[in-house]
Order: sequence, then C-alpha cells, then structure tokens
Amino acid sequence: MATKQSCMALGCDWRGSSDDMLRAPSPFFDSRETLYGCPACKAVNSLYLVCDEPECWDLVAYGTPTSDGYRSTCSKHKPRTVAG
Ligand SMILES: [Zn+2]
Ligand SMILES: [Zn+2]
Repeated sequence: MATKQSCMALGCDWRGSSDDMLRAPSPFFDSRETLYGCPACKAVNSLYLVCDEPECWDLVAYGTPTSDGYRSTCSKHKPRTVAG
C-alpha cells in the first residue's frame, strides 16, 4: 500500500506517494535493507511519512490500530483507539 511521504531535505519540499520514491538495495550492513531517495532532490534518508488524512501533510506522530486497519496520523488526526 502506498503511503504519503514528504522530503525534509534543505531546500526541497517534495511531497508525494511512496510509489514515486527512488529505491535501491542498501550497500551497507545488510543488503536486504532498502534505501529510499527523494525523486526531486535525490537525497537519501530525507523522506518522512506524513499523515494518512487527505490534504494533511503533517508528519506522522501516532500509529493507531483501528477497526479499519492501522492508521498513521499526525497529532491532530489521531483516531480514537479501538477498545479491546
Ligand atoms: Zn527532496
Ligand atoms: Zn493530519
């Protein structure tokens, strides 16, 4: 499933889908790791997951399991935790 991502590199304000990120096997440590790069500025490790909510581009602050599945949201859009 694609997630929303935002680039935090200096001078870059790329926002988009995880489908558009550059990816490559990591040359470090364990090659099963994948490195992700920004398609705009080519910075690596500058991409951050942003809120699930449409039109919201705040960084994810909470991961919440809900009846609709796992949500990654900013503090404003944190869903109520499902009881039980
Ligand atoms: Zn960038
Ligand atoms: Zn939000």
